[in-house]
Amino acid sequence: MQPADLIAAIATAPGRGGVGVIRLSGPALQPLAAALTGKTPQARHATLVRFKDEAGEAIDSGLLLYFPAPHSFTGEDVLELQGHGGPAVLQRLLKRCLQLGARLAEPGEFTRRAFLNDKLDLAQAESVADLIEASSEEAARSAMRSLSGDFSRQIHALVEGLIQLRMLVEATLDFPEEDIDFLEAADALGQLRSLRAALATLRGQARQGRLLRDGLNVVLVGQPNVGKSSLMNALAGDDVAIVSDTAGTTRDSLRELIHIEGIPLHLIDTAGLRQTDDHVEQLGIARTRAALDKADLVLLLVDAQHGLTPAEQAILDTLPAVPRITVYNKIDLSGETAASELGADGMRVRLSARQGDGVDLLRQQILHVAGWHSGEGVFMARERHLTALAAASEALERAEAGWQQIELFADDLRQAQQQLSSITGEFTADDLLGEIFSRFCIGK
Ligand code: GDP
Ligand code: ZN
Repeated sequence: MQPADLIAAIATAPGRGGVGVIRLSGPALQPLAAALTGKTPQARHATLVRFKDEAGEAIDSGLLLYFPAPHSFTGEDVLELQGHGGPAVLQRLLKRCLQLGARLAEPGEFTRRAFLNDKLDLAQAESVADLIEASSEEAARSAMRSLSGDFSRQIHALVEGLIQLRMLVEATLDFPEEDIDFLEAADALGQLRSLRAALATLRGQARQGRLLRDGLNVVLVGQPNVGKSSLMNALAGDDVAIVSDTAGTTRDSLRELIHIEGIPLHLIDTAGLRQTDDHVEQLGIARTRAALDKADLVLLLVDAQHGLTPAEQAILDTLPAVPRITVYNKIDLSGETAASELGADGMRVRLSARQGDGVDLLRQQILHVAGWHSGEGVFMARERHLTALAAASEALERAEAGWQQIELFADDLRQAQQQLSSITGEFTADDLLGEIFSRFCIGK
């Protein structure tokens, strides 16, 4: 690997704030600090300094913090300049750092260096971004759990178990005369089954984490005037959509991000699916179709006063195969009480978007359909992790089905391990051999 160069960036959010921070990572930070402040930074001490430009004029006064390698975020020498949080002063300070030999850091470059220097594994590095982007307290908490390694530790435990099993199998490959009896005696299949069970549990947790990170696309469909915009407003808690008494007014797909128990819901209010010759409305219908293609959940709204009409039944028949809740709206007019129940057409919720009765029932049903259990101990996970976990799970399924063909068995186990390791970003090909020789008595 090439020796890393010196990078610098403003670490605090753009705009004005009490404090602004510039972070530098790389070699030759002591001379840079001396040229910038006239003082030598002390390891892990805050030093009050004046940051000066090339003419010796003060740019700002603030604190200098120095974290020598390897005890820093990136694992390299790190310098933090804390000044006043105004954009002009931070830009001047950054410009001075660039003059003194730093280069502007690329997005994520500090975290990438932390990963390259083994300060974080890949899943943890990803959770740094997730923590920063978290849109709810629950999401932030779960990102922090991933960052502290909760997820990675479980991956490591699975990889460890796979390595044990592979050692057995690889040993068998070297001594074919012992082959299957040997694996049976060592209960290779039993080991495999408990690994599969552990992986299944982990996948379930990761799905929850993915839900918390990415949320759900929820699409509202129904005839004009049935109350889609009103329901969206009721769920959102503030007015975002146009509510009108004239049928067909909401022609644009309107989007709103809301949260239920920390789960982000991307609500999409559609123009409806009414058959029409109106050109503008047909455009809206095309957009509705596009939204439906990406939907995780469809809320079909019908008027509680007359229930499902033939036209709505026709809409139902064209909906894609995604989970659906039928919402019977305007119970204040039909005289019914708020309720949720399982009907012939799936889950039904009766509510009044205008008065708010039953909206909470709908929130609970949305979480239920989404498969959300609770925020307890959930760590943040991404689609990439789910894909790798699914591939690992398939490899182990194949392994179990065909374990008596030992070469294939060994290969499936190897693939499962590779998939799991891709989550934490490790390469295990070489150190697997090391593990085998250090822990397994091959002469036995
Ligand atoms: P959309 O065309 O499906 O988006 O329907 P809107 O949300 O624009 O609502 C159409 C009309 O129905 C408006 O006058 C709303 O105030 C009214 N409305 C919506 N929900 C309810 C409800 O629960 N009860 C009553 N009484 N009126 C409602
Ligand atoms: Zn509307």
